[in-house]
Amino acid sequence: MARLELNGNTVAPGVGVGAVFVAMTTTTANIPIRRIAPKDAAGAWELLDLARSRALKRLEMIQATTARELGLQDAAIYAAQAAVLQDPEATSELRAWIQDDLLAPESAIQALLNKFGTLFEKLEGGDMKSWAADLTDPWNLVLRELLHEGLEHAKSDELGNLVLVAEELTPILVVSYPREKVCAILCSRGGRYSHGAVLARSFGIPTITGLPQIEEKVLSGERCIVFGDTGRVLIGATVAETEDSLTLAADRNHVREVMIAGAKEAGRTADGTPVKIRVNIESPRDLDLFDIEMVNGVGLFRTEFVYMERPSFPSVQDQVEIYARVLERFPTKTVVFRTLDVGADKQLRYFKTPVEANPALGWRGLRLSLQWPDLFYMQLQALHACRHLGKVNVMLPMVTTLDEVRRAKKMLEAIAGEGELGIRFGVMIEVPAAAMALADIVEEVDFISVGTNDLVQYLFAVDRDNSWVADLYQPYHPAHLRVLRFIARTCIAADKPVTVCGEMAGQAAGAFFLAGCGYTGLSMSPLFVPEIKALLRQVDIGVLRSSAAAAAQADNATEAYAILEETVAAAWQKVSESVEKHNT
Ligand code: PEP
Ligand code: MG
Repeated sequence: MARLELNGNTVAPGVGVGAVFVAMTTTTANIPIRRIAPKDAAGAWELLDLARSRALKRLEMIQATTARELGLQDAAIYAAQAAVLQDPEATSELRAWIQDDLLAPESAIQALLNKFGTLFEKLEGGDMKSWAADLTDPWNLVLRELLHEGLEHAKSDELGNLVLVAEELTPILVVSYPREKVCAILCSRGGRYSHGAVLARSFGIPTITGLPQIEEKVLSGERCIVFGDTGRVLIGATVAETEDSLTLAADRNHVREVMIAGAKEAGRTADGTPVKIRVNIESPRDLDLFDIEMVNGVGLFRTEFVYMERPSFPSVQDQVEIYARVLERFPTKTVVFRTLDVGADKQLRYFKTPVEANPALGWRGLRLSLQWPDLFYMQLQALHACRHLGKVNVMLPMVTTLDEVRRAKKMLEAIAGEGELGIRFGVMIEVPAAAMALADIVEEVDFISVGTNDLVQYLFAVDRDNSWVADLYQPYHPAHLRVLRFIARTCIAADKPVTVCGEMAGQAAGAFFLAGCGYTGLSMSPLFVPEIKALLRQVDIGVLRSSAAAAAQADNATEAYAILEETVAAAWQKVSESVEKHNT
C-alpha cells in the first residue's frame, strides 16, 4: 500500500483512524454505463434482487417508524413505494436489460430511471412531478443499496471504523451511513458552511474537504488517519503512527469527557459574566443525543426539517405534537422555533418551487412564507397553540426588510390579538440589508439572532455551498466582524437581547469574539457545548472585549483569527491544566 500524505480544509475536528470506504455517488447521472459478460448475467440479476429486498426491508422499517411517530396516514406513502419496487413490468424490464442487453445491475436501474424521466418530462403539473418522485425514489434506494454493497467488506477487521471518501460532502452522504460506523469523512469538494458540513459537525465526525480527486486516489480498505483539526490525511500509515493517533484520539475523548462533566454549570466567563448557551436542533429526536441539563434551551429549531422528512405538509395538529415534544423537555427554558426556511438547497419533495437561476438569492425563507400565507398561517397557529407549554419564541428566517417583519407580525396578531402575542417574536439577521435597517427592525421584535452562515454568504456574495469560491467565504474577515459588532451595538442600544445561532457560535474563536462584542447568548450544535463552556470559563470578559475590538480592526481574516486564537490558546492551556489536575 503506497504511503500518501494530503492536506485539505478542516470541516469538523477530531481524529479518525480507520479503513477507507469509497462511497459512490447515488446520483445516477454520475454512474458510468457498465456492461457485463454473459456468464455473469445470472449473478448480476441476483445482486439486483438482493439489493431490492434490502431496500424493501428498509422501507418497511421507515414505514413502521413513521406510523409510530407521525401516524398511519403518513406511513402509507412507504407502502406505496414498496409496491413500486414489486411492479412486475419494471421487474421484467430490468431482467431483460441485464440478461439480454448485458447491462450491469446499477446500469439497468439507471435505464429504468431514464425511462421514467422521459415519460414524466412530457407531463405537466405539480402532481405529476411528485408522482414521478414517488416512482423514482424507491429505485434510487435500491441503487443506493447496490452501490453500498461493499460497505461490509470495507470495514477493517482490526479497526472496525470507516473513513468515508466521496467526491462531494452532501447531506445525503452524511446521513446515508450508520453514524457509529463512520470515524471520518474525506471529500474532494464541499464548503465548510454547507449543510453537509453542518451535519457532519453536529454528528461529531472528523471531516476534511478540499482534497481534489480523493475518491480516485485511494482504494477501499486502505488504512487511513484523519486529523480533522489540521486538515492532514495520512494513507498507508505505519503501525506506530496508527497507534499514536489512536492514543491521541483517546486523549481527546478523555478531555471531552472531563469537559462534559463540568458542562452543567451555567455558561459564564471567568469573572462571572453570563453567556447563555443553547442548542441548534433539527428534530425533537436530537434532544435524546445529549444531556439537556447542559443548555439554556433551544436557540434554533430548524423546523423545515420537520417538513422535509414527511411525505406531505404537516397539519396544525401534527405540528403542535412535534413542537410540544421539544417544549416538554424544556418547560421553563427558551425554545426558539424558526419558521419554515425552505428554498435554495432545502427543498420539500411535495412542494416544488420554480427553477431559479440564483436560488440562494431567490424564493426562500420568509419570502416564501409571505407569498404562501396559508402555509405560514398554519405554522404560526401551531406555534401560538403551544404557548402554554413553555417559553415559545418564534423567529423569522431570511428577513430583508422592515415591511416583511411587519407583515409577518400582523399575521401573528391576527391569530393572537393585537399587542398580546402570547409568544415572543424575533428575527434572524442574515441579510446585510436587514443588518443596516436593524435600528428600525429591532423596534418590532422581542429578540434578534444572527445567522452568520448566511450573513457571510450574502455579505461576501459567495455561495456557501460552492467550493469554487470557498476561499472568499470568510467569517473571520474584519468586514464581517465589524457588521457583527454593529448588530450587537444596535441591539444593546435598543435594550433587546441579541444572540448568534450560526456556526461561528460553536467555534472557540467565534464564541470568544461574540461574547466580547456583547452577544448574550450563543446557540450551537450540542457537540460543541462542553468545549465552549469550558473555554469561556477560563477568561475574563474584559479580555474578550479587547481581543474582539482588536480582531475587528485587523487587516484581513488571517490576522483577525490569529488575534482571537491567541486568547483561545491561553484558555485551552488552562483547560488542559485542569484536566491534568482532575487526573491526579
Ligand atoms: C445561518 O444562516 O447562520 C443559520 C443558522 O441558518 P441555516 O444554517 O439553517 O441557514
Ligand atoms: Mg440561514
